[in-house]
Amino acid sequence: TSSRTPLIAGNWKMNLNHLEAIALVQKVSFALPDKYTEKVDVAFIPPFVDIRGVQVVVEGDKLPFAYGAQDVSAHVSGAYTGEVSASMLAKLGCTYVVVGHSERRDYHAETDELVAAKAAKVLEAKMTPIVCVGEKLEIREAGTHVDFVVKQLTGSLAGLSAEQIGNSVIAYEPVWAIGTGKTASAADAQEVCAAIRSALADIAGAEVAAKVRVLYGGSVNSGNIGELITQDDVDGGLVGGASLKPDEFAQLSAIAA
Ligand code: PEP
Repeated sequence: TSSRTPLIAGNWKMNLNHLEAIALVQKVSFALPDKYTEKVDVAFIPPFVDIRGVQVVVEGDKLPFAYGAQDVSAHVSGAYTGEVSASMLAKLGCTYVVVGHSERRDYHAETDELVAAKAAKVLEAKMTPIVCVGEKLEIREAGTHVDFVVKQLTGSLAGLSAEQIGNSVIAYEPVWAIGTGKTASAADAQEVCAAIRSALADIAGAEVAAKVRVLYGGSVNSGNIGELITQDDVDGGLVGGASLKPDEFAQLSAIAA
């Protein structure tokens, strides 16, 4: 972690309607005292239709939470039926936008090039992209995961300036650990997160690399976040399943603080 403020981002995926969304945010707020949120950034990443409700409760009750979206269009505006633009998300007060989640790469054939284009739109709208990278099981088993992730990262940041990269967050999410209950060991997470930081130094310079937060994602919960967060290059978590359980999410955020 070092001097970087830890970030815990809860990716709800395709769960919770707008009423359930409001209830979850309220429950997390009851369960997470301010003494923790002063030391950890906590963000909700709900489905698009929930964002307005989350905004109303966060702003209305002045809750110490950020929020954002799970995806964004690579286009600015116009005839792109079904898509949502970065400027619309910025207007709703979003701080973060996840780009390149493995589920989007897999089920929607998103390429590194598309992910980089989306990240650029997020940055142009003055929000922070959470750029996801991670290897599948066969690559891990072949032992080529570090090279794979560095290449995927480089492609997913292509065309961004050093300053833009400095305003981004990277999430290392080994695909074999997502939703499987299998977490990478803290040492495995550190190995790849350190490689990501050194790749960031090559691409954007040491100063940028030192300030970018690199998250780990993949079956993070209150039982494993403690060891993960103490790794030098792990600056928080992108949390799926556990982010839907308010007490669990509050507890793991408190541990990361
Ligand atoms: C995710 O999808 O970003 C994720 C890490 O999911 P889970 O925590 O459920 O493995």
